[in-house]
Amino acid sequence: MIEIAVISGKGGTGKTTITTAFAAISGDLILADCDVDAPDLHIILNPDVVNKWEFHGSKVAEINPELCTECGLCQSSCRFDSAHPPVIDQIACEGCRVCQLVCPANAIEMNDRLSGYIYRSMTRYGPMAHAKLLPGEGNSGKLVTEVRRLGVRLAKQYEKELVLIDGSPGIGCPVISTISGIKLGIIVTEPTMSGIHDMERVFSLLSRFRTKAAVIINKYDLNLENTRRIEQYSEDKGITILGRIPFDPMMTESMVAAKTLPEFAADHQIVSLLIDMWKQIMELIK
Ligand code: SF4
Ligand code: SF4
Repeated sequence: MIEIAVISGKGGTGKTTITTAFAAISGDLILADCDVDAPDLHIILNPDVVNKWEFHGSKVAEINPELCTECGLCQSSCRFDSAHPPVIDQIACEGCRVCQLVCPANAIEMNDRLSGYIYRSMTRYGPMAHAKLLPGEGNSGKLVTEVRRLGVRLAKQYEKELVLIDGSPGIGCPVISTISGIKLGIIVTEPTMSGIHDMERVFSLLSRFRTKAAVIINKYDLNLENTRRIEQYSEDKGITILGRIPFDPMMTESMVAAKTLPEFAADHQIVSLLIDMWKQIMELIK
């Protein structure tokens, strides 16, 4: 069983449009939406949720008023102004446990906090693992790990060889959790200075994990000079260039219509390009 991820240095590069197009082209894989801070595969794929689980990614302090002597130590020790004995501000509490450590009356318990939900769903292209982090909640890396675990379980259950991950943008904790141990990272980039910079950062992250990298240049015709820079950088670093996609409003229109590109415009040149890229990806992970 192989995991591959579509990632990008920042949001809005067309990552999800490309991921869903690959899912439609393959039709024989498990999908995992690891962009848990802002998941959007479900917008296009409209999945039917089969199971839903709570995700507890952090702790929150709670004072037992029967034990509390209101000595005030927890309040003076809390760096987040969350402890106001005999109550703890459940929203402001960061779960650092300092109050529990200093409390002389053992009056503070750390409880699980609901941080989000994990879903097992069915889409028109097969099973999907996804999740949603609640607003203000952190620890998205741990949630990404859970989504990947579910994706692998689904692959075993449905006897699929491939898990296609839609990764988080950037190079933070959720991306690190997304790419550790995957077979191939497909970087979607655009020919802007920030796009080039972001691509370099994502590639250096993949290199640290010794993960094979490939690149797709989206909207390549908006700046041919920068496209050449990306290609040169890729050649220098040994990154496979899967291809270039021209700017076309059809990409956005397909999202608005909640359709994958092959559904929206099966005969379009961009769909042919993506079919060719998918063939190359299959070769790369052999
Ligand atoms: S440190 Fe413990 S006993 Fe003191 S106010 Fe806080 S909860 Fe109450
Ligand atoms: S767990 Fe940390 S943040 Fe929460 S109330 Fe205690 S000291 Fe403050």
